[in-house]
Amino acid sequence: MKKILIILALLPVLFLAFATFIYKLMNSETFQIAGEIIPRVETNEKVVALTFDDGPSENADEILNTLKEKNVKATFYVMGENIEKFPEESKKIFTEGHELGNHSYSHQRMVFKSNQFIRDEVDKTNALILQLGYDKEITFRPPFGKKLIGLPMYLKSKNIKTITWDVEPQKALGADVSADQIVEYVRNTTKPGSIILIHPWYGEKNASRDSIEGVIDELKADGYQFLTVSELLKK
Ligand SMILES: [Zn+2]
Repeated sequence: MKKILIILALLPVLFLAFATFIYKLMNSETFQIAGEIIPRVETNEKVVALTFDDGPSENADEILNTLKEKNVKATFYVMGENIEKFPEESKKIFTEGHELGNHSYSHQRMVFKSNQFIRDEVDKTNALILQLGYDKEITFRPPFGKKLIGLPMYLKSKNIKTITWDVEPQKALGADVSADQIVEYVRNTTKPGSIILIHPWYGEKNASRDSIEGVIDELKADGYQFLTVSELLKK
């Protein structure tokens, strides 16, 4: 009897421990249960990858012109439904020398979803990227960085790498932040081999978009060179 009472008393504790474990697993940028997940690259060389999530949007020219002026190549994790809305902008990203990655079709949390849903989100977006004429390896970045079992298993079966990040100003600083604060945060947290995540696409005024120039200038001043994700993975 006593034993049963002890077990009953422990159940909420065990449940909480399990729920915490699942939550951490779902949100981890450095671990998943199957396949490769890459938040950064181990190197002593001062190289980084600048990555942009979501989009594209009508703000493509502004972002691409900044990168062109600064002679920097970046990696864009785009959403399938936005490729359909902005095919010319999507094409322009890689014809100007940048890389495209898959950020799902509709940007939903890819946890507690059916295998069919996961497959559709990944495959539809890869097909749209290929239809644009893109012919390089396509890596995947989970929406909200969330994954649990189905997504890593599927990506592994298709030999698709999961790319996360180790520098994300928006999550650390919150939404109400200035471009200068973003630049300062990125400068302070970037290390050789870092993958930097910026959300530049939406809104007429966007501090993340405005920070791109400063991020590039400051990191260049610190001796960093910008590579695309595939170039960084070769280091
Ligand atoms: Zn996203």
